[in-house]
Amino acid sequence: MRLLPCLLALLGTGAMAQDLSVEEWEPRSTLVVDEHEVPRAKFPVIDVHSHHRGSISEARLDAIVGEMDALNLAVLVNLSGGYGQRLRAAVQNFRQRHPGRFAVFANPDFGGIGTAGWPERAARQLEEDVEAGAQGLKIFKSFGMSVRDPQGRRVPVDDPAMDPLFRTCARLKIPVLIHVADPAEFWAPQDSRNERWLELKLRPRRKQEAPPSFEDLIAERDRMLKRHPDVNFILAHMGWQGNDLGKLGALLDEHPNVHVDIAAVLYELGRIPFSGPEFVNRYKDRVLFGKDSYEPSEFPYYWRVLETRDEYFEYYRRYHAHWRLYGLGLPDDTLKHIYWKNAVRLIPGIDASLFE
Ligand SMILES: [Zn+2]
Repeated sequence: MRLLPCLLALLGTGAMAQDLSVEEWEPRSTLVVDEHEVPRAKFPVIDVHSHHRGSISEARLDAIVGEMDALNLAVLVNLSGGYGQRLRAAVQNFRQRHPGRFAVFANPDFGGIGTAGWPERAARQLEEDVEAGAQGLKIFKSFGMSVRDPQGRRVPVDDPAMDPLFRTCARLKIPVLIHVADPAEFWAPQDSRNERWLELKLRPRRKQEAPPSFEDLIAERDRMLKRHPDVNFILAHMGWQGNDLGKLGALLDEHPNVHVDIAAVLYELGRIPFSGPEFVNRYKDRVLFGKDSYEPSEFPYYWRVLETRDEYFEYYRRYHAHWRLYGLGLPDDTLKHIYWKNAVRLIPGIDASLFE
């Protein structure tokens, strides 16, 4: 009778110590430093990168607005608006009950891309979607990776079929938020040197084996950017180059119409407490706040990295980053730019009276 508890106690200590796997190892930090939790952003924020699919009940919308108020989130941009009837329904759903608190971006219908007439049809659809209330265009990462023409050929990011669509965005003065590629480590060997090894272990389908390579996709993206200097682009996830701010800065220098959001890549800026804030201050007109998955408990990590000078604190998603974060201590002027000023400038129809 007493054997079982004894055995469990033994397993819980000595045996466990030797058998612990790297996935289970979550060491606490013994560092003692000042800590400043930031439950609410210092200034009102526009989250330019959020996803809410399908119809949302009035009660749920009210709850979301309550959560937004607590976080000081003034506006959420729902990038998953779709096109046509779905877009129309999304605009109604989000904008009627809480005017001004939500913006909706349209998405292209890639069905039939590569056939005659698609470029003009896609441009016309967008024009209709903007008339219905869309305030921007979001292009998902499937474009460049899994979107294929009827012959089964991959459509590259710089495909000329997109030109009429982009020209329409320039004419209607709406931004294009585009997600190209994924972290470069998804293409690298999944070995002991891979920074995203844990993520690839937990999410094996994220491993990229077939072409195009990360470099191919980025080169296609950059050729596309060059062709459309009149379009305001926002590269999602810092264009997956938040780990190389020299390269990203060169891209921003070359293209004054290109911007980045920091959605789901907080772990990049959070590990560079010196050159990170230098970059954000220098490009304060080009960096926008975004979060990606809407999870109220996770926003304060962003506020803390951007606003404080806290040191070596935990991130909320270990498989994105096994390291800890540092605060950048950004000045008020920079914070206001990335929290709302840039978004108000780029996205038409946002009520500027919500700010200051
Ligand atoms: Zn996203």
